[in-house]
Amino acid sequence: MAEEQKVQIAPHFVRLDLRKVINHPGYTAFTEFETDIQLWEGGQWVHVHGEASGTNVDGRYVLVTGKVVGVVELECSRCLTVFKQEIEAPFEAQCDIRTFHLLAEGLPVDEGEEITAIFDSNSADLWELSRQAFVLQLPMRPLCREDCKGLCPYCGANLNETTCNCQPPADPRWAALEALMERFKS
Ligand SMILES: [Zn+2]
Ligand SMILES: [Zn+2]
Repeated sequence: MAEEQKVQIAPHFVRLDLRKVINHPGYTAFTEFETDIQLWEGGQWVHVHGEASGTNVDGRYVLVTGKVVGVVELECSRCLTVFKQEIEAPFEAQCDIRTFHLLAEGLPVDEGEEITAIFDSNSADLWELSRQAFVLQLPMRPLCREDCKGLCPYCGANLNETTCNCQPPADPRWAALEALMERFKS
């Protein structure tokens, strides 16, 4: 019962049309899409492509699932090098059939913004679903590579690219003791 939809490619506005799905239990709509998402206000734009499907489950609710893939620029948390990494982010959202009808009549819905950020009376916002999913998949401590050696804490050299002759500076307390020893010797 799946039917492929052709989606207009436009930044900011990629939606999964759910009109048939809402009214037909068991029906699934599928789409592939491509767009540019902004990770957060003022943040990086990422070109992504993805796929999504919406299924009417037992005439009770619509389940939207899918995934989005894109390449993001990250800064290594050890050596501060900017590098590119591919991120794949799955997403899932659901909305009661009853809620679609409330939205169609402009009535308030119990679930509030969590639902209305994604769904309107006849579609799901794939741009926002993709954005939320993508942000969740960003690494907390990005690494340009597993064994990144980081920066020398003394001269700042990138130890992946070069070596340096820095020694940890002598502890001043030991220096004082050494000076004292020298005095005793002489
Ligand atoms: Zn690094
Ligand atoms: Zn150094």
